[in-house]
Amino acid sequence: MKVADAVKALNQANGSHLDPIYIPSLGREVMFYPLSTADVKTLTRMNFLDEFDIQVEGIKLALFDKLCSEDLSDTAVLDANGKEIYPAISAKTINQFDYLSFLIGIRQMLNNKLTYTFTCFNSEKPCNEQFTYEIDMLEKFDDIITNFKRQTEFFERTDEKTGNIWKFGLTNFSMHDYLFFKFFMNKLKETDVDSPDLEFETQFVKPILYIKNIWFNDQLIEDWPTLSFPEKLSFWNKIPPNITVNSLGTEFGTLPDFIQKTFWEEKLVSLIENINVMCPHCGKIYNGSFNFDDFFMF
Ligand SMILES: [Zn+2]
Repeated sequence: MKVADAVKALNQANGSHLDPIYIPSLGREVMFYPLSTADVKTLTRMNFLDEFDIQVEGIKLALFDKLCSEDLSDTAVLDANGKEIYPAISAKTINQFDYLSFLIGIRQMLNNKLTYTFTCFNSEKPCNEQFTYEIDMLEKFDDIITNFKRQTEFFERTDEKTGNIWKFGLTNFSMHDYLFFKFFMNKLKETDVDSPDLEFETQFVKPILYIKNIWFNDQLIEDWPTLSFPEKLSFWNKIPPNITVNSLGTEFGTLPDFIQKTFWEEKLVSLIENINVMCPHCGKIYNGSFNFDDFFMF
């Protein structure tokens, strides 16, 4: 046997061991090839560095296409006029729920558990215990992943000062766009050292991810979907704050309020933020230790 023969035999063996992974956007399982050593290396790259690297994240995201054994090019959803409602499923279009489910599937293939090390800082009962916390991702996210359905929502609001009517078409955003959003916010953090409140800025900017279309006084702003992220932000900044800024509590008052109450991505954020970690030594409970991006580390 030569190397080429061995590779051929390996590929054939791999082909017969496909693994099913549930893809929420499709509402069904898709078969994936098992990971090669090179794929595992890709996943574990940058594991020990805490920095966000859009290229590394992009390579990880591309594994979806690389490992997918099915041709998904015919999975676009069209309306009666043939206009695309949802694009065909691929690494470029999958949303956070598809990607989360995909990564949980990969973790299971690898028999890999997500484990974190914590150090307790309890001053009341002096404790600095170091302990590990293991997350069973399948158990934690099974409900939200299996119950997720793709969303298309509309939000309309009249600006009382000017009488202008703003209407927004909203959908779940792609992981691909989310990575650009992260990249952009990280750049802002580096360059805008004077910004006193990056948390506020992130909350202000994030709704842009959900906005697929904007109508101004019933006129569709045609080039919105083709604008770059900074161009979108520049326009978003010009829309009155009684539409764009979270009003913290007013029922469906502004677009961010509506998004927070409506979209599953926001439910996922609060599910993750409400994971409690308890110190096994002193019993102190830590809340808000995780964010969405923590689950993409291997
Ligand atoms: Zn403790």
